[in-house]
Amino acid sequence: MINAGTVLEAARELNVTAAIEIPKDVQQKVEQLASEEKNHYSRYVLENILQNYDAAIKDRSPMCADTGLPRYYAKIGNNALIEGGMVQLEKSLRQATADTTASIPLRPNRVHPFSRKDHNNNVGLHAPTVDYSFEPDADWMDITVVHKGGLFGGDYRMLFPSDGIPGLKRFFLDTLAEFLRRGMSCQPAVIGIGVGGTKDVCVRLSKEAACLRLLGDRNPDPEIAALEEELIALGNDAGFGPMGFPGNSAVLDIHIEAAYAHTGGMPVGIQQFCYAHRRKTVRLFADNSVEYREDPRWFTPYYRRDTID
Ligand code: SF4
Repeated sequence: MINAGTVLEAARELNVTAAIEIPKDVQQKVEQLASEEKNHYSRYVLENILQNYDAAIKDRSPMCADTGLPRYYAKIGNNALIEGGMVQLEKSLRQATADTTASIPLRPNRVHPFSRKDHNNNVGLHAPTVDYSFEPDADWMDITVVHKGGLFGGDYRMLFPSDGIPGLKRFFLDTLAEFLRRGMSCQPAVIGIGVGGTKDVCVRLSKEAACLRLLGDRNPDPEIAALEEELIALGNDAGFGPMGFPGNSAVLDIHIEAAYAHTGGMPVGIQQFCYAHRRKTVRLFADNSVEYREDPRWFTPYYRRDTID
């Protein structure tokens, strides 16, 4: 059985590492963009972003003063036993959020939308969120924490089937123009695109695509993978650099996820995740050993399953 204390301790560690240590895949991609960027000012910005990553690790302080909105993704093995069940799991994750808001510290960003009341711990109504998925033939549980900036870079549009890929590209370019030219996404950013499902599903998938896949990872569907590559080139050829400067380095990666939609529509959600790309995963085993890693491994074959067995 996975003990509640193991969950609490691991979730605290996840928050500390996510806030401070940039994942290696992101750092390497920013290094590559800096080496290839032709615009002097954009290259200067990228080099400073890299220095900032180093300073955060050296000082053991968050990589951005805005520490985003902590959220969790739990992938639970079908045979996993969790002490206290799902209610205790959620209690532990909320407690870890409050504890590390004080200890790291994280900025207490979560406020009531009307009164602006702040518990000073990033916990409140529907906060932090916990999203779930399941895995067959497993008795472990993976928990991923993401600290995502929460204000800009997200959009939704209901396209029609006849809009097709050209309509999707138009929407993609519109969101670049809307957010990147003013540096509002704190780019370079990972852009997640959810296509299909319903309004809520495509938006959820776009966020998961932006937050829960390693940079360089391609969708297993070859057509979708080719579209990802095409949009990366399009995004970095649109004239935008980091933080609103002109250049050719606004896009860290594009990740696209698809879901079956109503035959009359093609809903699309887009989410951008800034260069302060904070994520960390732990696997909790039944014997209470833990294994930390940078790859969330959220999009498993089971999670992307199609039709019936
Ligand atoms: S978008 Fe990202 S880098 Fe920009 S202020 Fe928010 S958390 Fe920081």
